[in-house]
Amino acid sequence: MIRSLRPKVLSAAILASLLTAHASAQNPRNKPALPSDPATAAWLAPYRTVADRLIANAKESGGKFAWDRLAYFTDTFGPRISGSSNLDATLRWAEAEMKKDGLENVRLEPVMVPQWIRGDESLEIVEPFPNKVPILGLGGSVSTRAEGVTGELMVVKSFEELTARKDEARGKIVLFNALYTNYGETVRYRGGGASAAAKVGAVAALVRSVGLPGMRTPHTGGMRYEDGAPKIPTAAIPVEDADRFDRMAKRGQKVVLRLKMDARFLEDAPSANVVGELRGTEKPEEIILLGGHIDSWDPGTGAMDDGGGCVVTWEALRILKTLGLKPKRTIRVVLFTNEENGGAGGNGYRDAHRSELANHILALESDSGVFRPAGFGFTGSDAARKTLTEIASLLKPLGAHTIGAQGGGADINPSVTAGKIPSASLDVEPTKYFLLHHTPADTVDKIDPKDLGDNAAAIAFLAYVIADLPQPLPRIQ
Ligand SMILES: [Zn+2]
Repeated sequence: MIRSLRPKVLSAAILASLLTAHASAQNPRNKPALPSDPATAAWLAPYRTVADRLIANAKESGGKFAWDRLAYFTDTFGPRISGSSNLDATLRWAEAEMKKDGLENVRLEPVMVPQWIRGDESLEIVEPFPNKVPILGLGGSVSTRAEGVTGELMVVKSFEELTARKDEARGKIVLFNALYTNYGETVRYRGGGASAAAKVGAVAALVRSVGLPGMRTPHTGGMRYEDGAPKIPTAAIPVEDADRFDRMAKRGQKVVLRLKMDARFLEDAPSANVVGELRGTEKPEEIILLGGHIDSWDPGTGAMDDGGGCVVTWEALRILKTLGLKPKRTIRVVLFTNEENGGAGGNGYRDAHRSELANHILALESDSGVFRPAGFGFTGSDAARKTLTEIASLLKPLGAHTIGAQGGGADINPSVTAGKIPSASLDVEPTKYFLLHHTPADTVDKIDPKDLGDNAAAIAFLAYVIADLPQPLPRIQ
């Protein structure tokens, strides 16, 4: 539905003819009105044709290959929670596809992952009237007893309010109704709400979904029990229901809820990171690392989070290969496993590649959606930031020329920290990300093929130029 609301995208050919018509109307002598960017550094002149080729290729293809690839595997294998046979099938498929693309050193690097199973779950209003509420149990939660846990609802907006009213919490089901501000601030309630509530005697914890209001859709996500705190079951409810319960509490209306959850951990399971490369022609031992995470939460098909991130970084290598653009350093793509509920893929990569982390020139992760390009976030030295800013100036036609204040990503951060590697993230237009994040609505129809193509071209250009630099990017000392 969201895609159908977009204005129709003009084809590149129509757009070009409109621009030409406009230019000649404005310019009676009919000279081509080519804007030159005075900000572009002189050293980049030889790369202008590379940028032009990648951009032209993206416009011509409209991202079709990347979108078809993303649609194929998210439709076929579905959600890919760690330890699932869906994820295993995806890993094997991705390995075979990378080989078909002609990438080098394609391999699965084994990692053990935790295996959490959601099972059946439900939340019912018992009083004042019977009514079901849509929920998603939080990843890592324990189950309830078979008959469920029943308790009176207590609504708080913060940890501070819970502490202030702790004497009221015994035997209750506590709802943390923290309004969404930003992810980092609000996600604390999803992560730590259960233990905070358990410590004051609550029997279960609910959390207002961490995200934007949607169509009464709960958002799942990881949680963690504090050492020493009792383990109580915990789930997310839609924003709309959190608001309803809050209104009822303010009116003094008593609400009794019954939560049933069958969630549990199984034994840790074998999984893997999928790795493929374009080997560098001059300094193959020096690496530009690109990637996203191939696992997802279980309700949707993880097309945005993070199938899209995997596909655009992978696509960057495929396009370079297709266009015959050979990098001087190695460009490596890694589809990391187990980002969502453990981080075993990111930690496993750091451990398996510890001896070559010093040779990683840049690490880039795409895990913030693959919508309209904005540029890159970056964490590194001022000198490296200047280089990235100059490179990105050639990506203006894609809108991918802004270098934001911070880069990195959950999968690359363990390596970035251990190896002091300059780190980047793909930055995109952010509006839709926290609408869809960790919901059943995270499906491929929300993603515009053109955006995939443009993001892949932007990543390919950045990686190619950095692979070509005479000196590696300066590190933070
Ligand atoms: Zn993600």
